[in-house]
Amino acid sequence: MADIERYDIVIAGAGLTGAAFALAAAQGGLKVVMIDPQPFDAQLAPTFDGRSTAIAFSTFRMLDALGLGEALRPHACRMDHILVTDGRRPGAASRPALPAFLRFDAEEIGGRTGGEPLGYMVENRRIRAALAEAVTAAGIAVRAPASVATVVTDAGRATVTLADGAVLTAPLVVGAEGRGSVVRRAAGIETVGWGYGQSGVVATVRLGRDHGNVAHEYFLPGGPFAILPLTDQRASLVWTETTRRGEALRSASDDAFHAHLMRRFGEFLDGATVEGPRFVYPLSLSLAEKLVAPRIALIGDAAHGVHPVAGQGLNMGLKDAAALAEVLAEAARLGEDIGAETVLDRYARWRRFDNAALAAGFDAFVRLFSNDIAPIRLARDLGMAAVNRIGPLRRAFMQEAGGATGDLPRLLRGEAV
Ligand SMILES: Cc1cc2nc3c(=O)[nH]c(=O)nc-3n(C[C@H](O)[C@H](O)[C@H](O)COP(=O)(O)OP(=O)(O)OC[C@H]3O[C@@H](n4cnc5c(N)ncnc54)[C@H](O)[C@@H]3O)c2cc1C
Repeated sequence: MADIERYDIVIAGAGLTGAAFALAAAQGGLKVVMIDPQPFDAQLAPTFDGRSTAIAFSTFRMLDALGLGEALRPHACRMDHILVTDGRRPGAASRPALPAFLRFDAEEIGGRTGGEPLGYMVENRRIRAALAEAVTAAGIAVRAPASVATVVTDAGRATVTLADGAVLTAPLVVGAEGRGSVVRRAAGIETVGWGYGQSGVVATVRLGRDHGNVAHEYFLPGGPFAILPLTDQRASLVWTETTRRGEALRSASDDAFHAHLMRRFGEFLDGATVEGPRFVYPLSLSLAEKLVAPRIALIGDAAHGVHPVAGQGLNMGLKDAAALAEVLAEAARLGEDIGAETVLDRYARWRRFDNAALAAGFDAFVRLFSNDIAPIRLARDLGMAAVNRIGPLRRAFMQEAGGATGDLPRLLRGEAV
């Protein structure tokens, strides 16, 4: 029989959330191992993940506190302004005096954020590279490619058997393997959710004009789309298509794809060129009914896969990672069993309301904005105009989008675990 390896935490999933959690837990003095079916290096290939992430300013503080700031800063583009436009195509936002128009400016809340922007746009490949470097430097164990075959828990420990027969034990197993979480299933935790019948299409373009650090969000009846500023006058385009059209775009020729982009984005993309491959992601909502079970905790998309409309999925996952690491590190300092129900309950109570409220909110948002029924459109346009005119409301929205509301884990305040 294979030797049994002992850890404080076995983490299933070495993606963005799993790796950030591993670093946070290790900073809190815990011995962790990550398991992932993908070779760790494969995440760094340019074809692996073409998305860019809107990192809220508080989440960026967390990445800084985990030691990634230096690697990320040269690749992080400030988002100083966010313009939201309803029912009009790109280009319309540059025309003045539109009624349904929402504008957020970082300088308005600058006093509270110390001059930080609303957030930073960073390409996922850069975040993955920075995480990989930090994980290696911290000497964190990574078993990849490897996959979890079974998870068995008893009163004292969890035992994880890998497909290659290796056996690992720890007081706690963390599921960070995304929407199809094996650990979640092993724990018997159900999910609620549905598909949107839509795909998110992502492409990076080099712009023919200065983006001025402005993020544009357009709501059209066919679904939202965004033009998000990147370093070097590039932009990440994210928009929704029906699942069928999304699949057709995945395999379309470069010329056909470019022509489609120009039709979709119009004058806004004059002089722009597409850089690198395009990516298509099916969109769905998947919310775990519980965040914890005996000797098991879920974080990231394993706990809540949401629509990317507000660019918050990863921000939510990293907040989970920060909160769980803080609870566990504190429990370990006090000599508690880190897999005990009372300890895991603290994490669940901290994160469950925020996660459920945001997942429901984004779902309602997508439904509210993805239709063209006149009374609904009038109501949302009036709502947007009201938010735009009422300063305190507008500032509250910005604080929320920046992830700086509620009971923040230490990492999101820029402090060590
Ligand atoms: C188009 C689009 C745009 C987005 N934009 C934003 C944005 O601007 N801001 C934002 O905050 N969020 C955004 N998101 C959401 C964000 O990308 C996700 O929330 C995030 O990638 C989830 O990371 P994760 O590590 O939790 O899960 P995943 O990325 O799904 O990673 C899971 C990891 O687990 C591994 N794994 C799978 N099965 C197993 C197994 N059996 N055992 C062990 N490991 C396993 C996988 O190989 C993978 O490495 C966007 C999403 C989309 C689709």
